[in-house]
Amino acid sequence: MGPPGAGKGTQARFIAEHFKIPAISTGDIFRANVSEGTELGIEAKRYMDAGEYVPDEVTNLMVRNRIDDADAVSGFLLDGYPRTLAQVEELDGMIKFTGHRLDAVVCLTVDQDEIVSRLLQRAQVEGRADDTEDVIRRRQQVYLEQTAPLIEVYKARGIVHEIDGLGEVDEVTQRIFTALDVVPES
Ligand code: ADP
Repeated sequence: MGPPGAGKGTQARFIAEHFKIPAISTGDIFRANVSEGTELGIEAKRYMDAGEYVPDEVTNLMVRNRIDDADAVSGFLLDGYPRTLAQVEELDGMIKFTGHRLDAVVCLTVDQDEIVSRLLQRAQVEGRADDTEDVIRRRQQVYLEQTAPLIEVYKARGIVHEIDGLGEVDEVTQRIFTALDVVPES
C-alpha cells in the first residue's frame, strides 16, 4: 500500500521476483484493458482519467478472476488492491475460499510534494493519462479519504510493515526485505 507514486509497482516487481509469485497490479490490468479497448477498459477509463476509483464490483470481480489463474495458486502479491473497506472484506472472502492467508501488508510512506514531482516526471516518460497535476491531486485526496484508513484495519491484525519510500529504489527494496526477514542471496 501507499499513496499514488509511492513506488508500489516498482517494489512489487522485486518482491514478487524474490518470492517467485505473480505481482498482480489492478492499475496495470486496467491499463492493459484500456489499450486493448475491452468493455472493462472502456468502463474503467472514465474513472481513471478523473482520478477516481473504479467501482468496487468491477474491481473485485477482476481480482477474483485473476487470483484464480494457475500462477497464483501458491501465492501472490497484490499491488493497488484492496483500496476500499469493501475491497478488504471482499479479499478476506476470496482468500478464505482459496485457502490463502494474508502474510504481510507493506506500506510505503512518502512525502506528498515529492510524489507530485515524481508523478509529473513519470508522465513525461510513460505518458499516463492520469498523471496531470489536477488528477494527481485528486488521486491523493481519494487515497487519503478511502485507502489510508485501511492501514489501521490491517495494523489491528498485526501484519503491517511501514517502510520509508524515499531514497534510491534498491535502498527501499532492502528496507522491505529486512522488514519481511528476507535473507540476502549471496
Ligand atoms: P497509482 O497507485 O499511481 O494511483 P495505479 O496504477 O495503482 O496508480 O492505479 C491507477 C488507477 O486505476 C486508479 O487511480 C484507479 O482509478 C484505478 N484502480 C486501481 N486499483 C484500483 C482499486 N483497487 N479499486 C478501484 N480503482 C482502482
